[in-house]
Amino acid sequence: MEMGRVASSPETEAGILNEGATGYLTINLLALARNYAKLCALVAPAQTAAVVKADAYGLGALRLAPTLYKAGCRHFFVAQFDEAVKLRPVLAADAKIFVLNGLQPGNEEACAAREIIPILNSLEQWRRWLATAKRWKRTLPAVVQLDTGMSRPGVPPEERSALASELAGQGNIEILFIMSHLASADEFGSDQNDDQLAEMKRISEEFAGLDICFANSGGIFLGKPYHGALARPGIALYGGGPMAGEPSPMEAVVRMDVAVVQTRTVPAGAKIGYGGAHIADKETRVATIAAGYADGLPRSLSGRGAVYYKGTRLPIVGRVSMDSITLDITALPKGTLTLGSLVEVLGPHQTIEDVARDAGTISYEILTNLGDRYHRQYR
Ligand SMILES: *Cc1c(COP(=O)(O)O)cnc(C)c1O
Repeated sequence: MEMGRVASSPETEAGILNEGATGYLTINLLALARNYAKLCALVAPAQTAAVVKADAYGLGALRLAPTLYKAGCRHFFVAQFDEAVKLRPVLAADAKIFVLNGLQPGNEEACAAREIIPILNSLEQWRRWLATAKRWKRTLPAVVQLDTGMSRPGVPPEERSALASELAGQGNIEILFIMSHLASADEFGSDQNDDQLAEMKRISEEFAGLDICFANSGGIFLGKPYHGALARPGIALYGGGPMAGEPSPMEAVVRMDVAVVQTRTVPAGAKIGYGGAHIADKETRVATIAAGYADGLPRSLSGRGAVYYKGTRLPIVGRVSMDSITLDITALPKGTLTLGSLVEVLGPHQTIEDVARDAGTISYEILTNLGDRYHRQYR
């Protein structure tokens, strides 16, 4: 006899597989591909890479990177060598994988053997990669990063001329790009953008003939002068806004639905949640949903954020717990939400930018903290 499937429910009809999970992330790979195409159109004729570090900002690099490859992407940036190692088998050989954090000591042979391309962030890293190429008697690819005013990894200005003279006349390293990173690209009109662009122009003269890789998501929206030969967006691919505090011009990629685990009516004066931080001022209907700060919904949403049910805003009351959040659902007709009903945390009524604003953080932090307790589906 065949095992019976769980009976159909509104949620399964809406396309969510309800197999006992209480939190669902639905990741829209078509939206991802459309976001990539939109960014490509903005930067053309420059090329567009994809930053897929931190598991593609929490959404699943092993699923998202092949989608981006199919959409035409051939340059992939991760932060760490281990991330590159995991990504290598899911991408064809013509996909280039770059490690932003640079070349760690002892990592040279493994990088070369696995065709992973380090970002060389210092003279020391440059020299070690050059020595590796000589040892291997072959040409190795690299990207050299220069600091243009962020004091993060990259060759500092005072070592630039030494680097330029070491680069000249060597044949062992193929420099694919000269790279730098913008500190304030999400602030349209920040002087720091102009300053870094001016510094990048000087660099491109000092390293004439080499291609530039400069713009992150925000940099793309700052305009043509920032685009160089290869742009490196991350957050915009995943639907995040490139400009802080502005609605995102990108399409949402992730939807989050979370199940109700309890509904009840509490009298005026009832304390709700840890610390009794919320006291009901009147008879209130509340629902507890099965996601909390362990699922990446920051504790700073306590008493501030909301979720939605078919467009109705349901405020978070009391503190966000590790595994649950309590909502005031008085705005909904009695009986609308029952055990197992799904509410929208991210979706058509609430973006990652909205949640980030309510939590006092940025969409990057919301995405990268989502965690692994959700039932994930990719479509
Ligand atoms: C994370 C990162 C990016 C991507 O930035 P977004 O703002 O997400 O587009 C680009 N370059 C470097 C060096 C990074 O660390």
